[in-house]
Amino acid sequence: MYIGHRQPMINRIITFVIFLVLLPLYSNSQVIEVGLFAYKNIKKITIVSQTGAFTIYGDGVRISEIYNLEGIRAEIQSDKIAIRSMNNDFGAYKVVELRGLTETSTFNLKGIQPHTKEQEYHNHLRLKVYAGSIQLVNIVNIENYVGGVVEAETGKERPFEFYKVQSIISRTYALANFRRHEDEGYQLCDEVHCQVYHGLSKYEALIPKAVISTQGIVIVDSDIELITAAFSSNCGGKTRNAEDVWSKEVSYLKARTDSFCLEGAHAKWTKTISKSDWIKYEKLEESPPLQAYSGSESMIMDDSYSEFLYQKNDLISIRRKFNLNSTRFVIEDQKDHVVFVGRGFGHGVGLCQEGAIHMAEKEYNYKEILEFYYTDIHLIQLSSLNFFKDN
Ligand SMILES: [Zn+2]
Ligand SMILES: [Zn+2]
Repeated sequence: MYIGHRQPMINRIITFVIFLVLLPLYSNSQVIEVGLFAYKNIKKITIVSQTGAFTIYGDGVRISEIYNLEGIRAEIQSDKIAIRSMNNDFGAYKVVELRGLTETSTFNLKGIQPHTKEQEYHNHLRLKVYAGSIQLVNIVNIENYVGGVVEAETGKERPFEFYKVQSIISRTYALANFRRHEDEGYQLCDEVHCQVYHGLSKYEALIPKAVISTQGIVIVDSDIELITAAFSSNCGGKTRNAEDVWSKEVSYLKARTDSFCLEGAHAKWTKTISKSDWIKYEKLEESPPLQAYSGSESMIMDDSYSEFLYQKNDLISIRRKFNLNSTRFVIEDQKDHVVFVGRGFGHGVGLCQEGAIHMAEKEYNYKEILEFYYTDIHLIQLSSLNFFKDN
């Protein structure tokens, strides 16, 4: 009798302690809705519980549960989604939801029609019919999402401090742009249009650590607004003003000399095309003659040179036409060929990734790196954003 009373009491205490330990984690966590395979028109897909368990709901009613490595198949059936497992046919519903039973639950997705690569995700999944296909939305803790984005956009074996930089950029971007897909019924897509996200971070152990150690930190400008944290692969030695590339001035996206990226893999490049291709282009675009773009290599970094050409948008259209790494280039006129001699990779606005990696290797911390590339910014905790705004 005595023991019988003690047992539940201990359980209750343990539950309470677990609750207290988890409380800060959950109260800090923000959830984000990401459209998966957003441009692939999925008609049939398999979903497999990878870690933990999931409850499946059809139009809000619990229909089943799946545990470790159990799977279901979802298939479009006129305006509904039919769900079946190996042994059961669960019927068809307008909205199907899989809710992970713990924070660490993960599931795998693999498109059957069309075929897609298998990818693993955290937390929850919502399926419904949208524009004749299955719309898949990952309802995911923002920190889990950030880890996936950092892995997709940076790759392996980078310095820890650089992963922290990218975590803060990706978190800030997600929160500043969460209305982008409001019309479709989710917040961000999983492609370059928003941020590339191919499921959770699983190949680089430092990434989840970097996400946790910067949990909730975002970048704001001098008006305490979340910034558009633009970045590119290598600026070529000098970042660009936002207004010179996108025609709108932005207080924190200012040109600055960057000596950290000069040894980066994409610091310099050349590309050769035939003279006849150039002549064809010149006629089609009514572009200035070749001589206008010619110059010494030192002119690449000379802003008056690029300003002259920018007014006509010529550099951007040449870059697009000949698939060049950047718009920082001069052209050498050789007998039968035209040689582009250039620097950098990408638009060059905001943070320069190869420069930031080198700064991290030289033991600058994430705050110093972000403050180097973004002018007049502050790092704050997301939870205090409203507090600072009200003051
Ligand atoms: Zn998008
Ligand atoms: Zn750079």
